[in-house]
Amino acid sequence: MKFVFSPPPLPSVPVADSTERFPVHRIYCVGRNYAEHAIEMGWTGREPPFFFAKPADAVLPVEENETGEMPYPPMTSDLHHEIELVVAIGKAGTNIPLHQALDHVWGYAIGLDMTRRDLQTDAKKAGRPWSTAKGFDLSAPISRIYPASMVGHIAQGRIHLDVNGEQRQASDVGKLTWSVAEIVAYLSKYFTLRPGDLIFTGTPEGVGPVRRGDILEGGIEGLGSLRVSIT
Ligand code: MN
Repeated sequence: MKFVFSPPPLPSVPVADSTERFPVHRIYCVGRNYAEHAIEMGWTGREPPFFFAKPADAVLPVEENETGEMPYPPMTSDLHHEIELVVAIGKAGTNIPLHQALDHVWGYAIGLDMTRRDLQTDAKKAGRPWSTAKGFDLSAPISRIYPASMVGHIAQGRIHLDVNGEQRQASDVGKLTWSVAEIVAYLSKYFTLRPGDLIFTGTPEGVGPVRRGDILEGGIEGLGSLRVSIT
């Protein structure tokens, strides 16, 4: 096959204890999936999950023991951190039954759903899409992916984010309003899930702004850490 120009490189994420990489197909994100964060954003209760997306090449892969560099994006003065458990899909499916949902999960990672909060607030008020608030370049820093065959399925464990050594977000993955299996089953009603899909499962309370020069250090029990500097 001949293309009119060289196709862009395939976005990919390193895999723990492997030289192989996980090729990224799509990035889905879940909104308001921890009750305390829903409350801080002005919501209450267990609403049905809702989804938005980032482009696959928004990933900023960061190796363990390295510090990723994320440029402060243009067109915002209120860039926020959202630490999240990321689910990596390894098997295709539509209308996946709940009891089979975890069979489609290849692994897990730590991710940051970086957000232009000012643009998101404007979009909400105007009833407009969130693309510029959520889907900008390098808006998805992500750790290496840990295969479920190595670490098991992540149903609980501490999730946290520190900025410049000070704790900003701290919760437990067990507090997800919609569990990993429920998210996979629900999302697969709307989209055919494919190997390479990443699902950012939502952030706990404590989101807030970052500035140039800040060091973000996130972690999830069983998955190591994710370190990013804002440049
Ligand atoms: Mn989020």
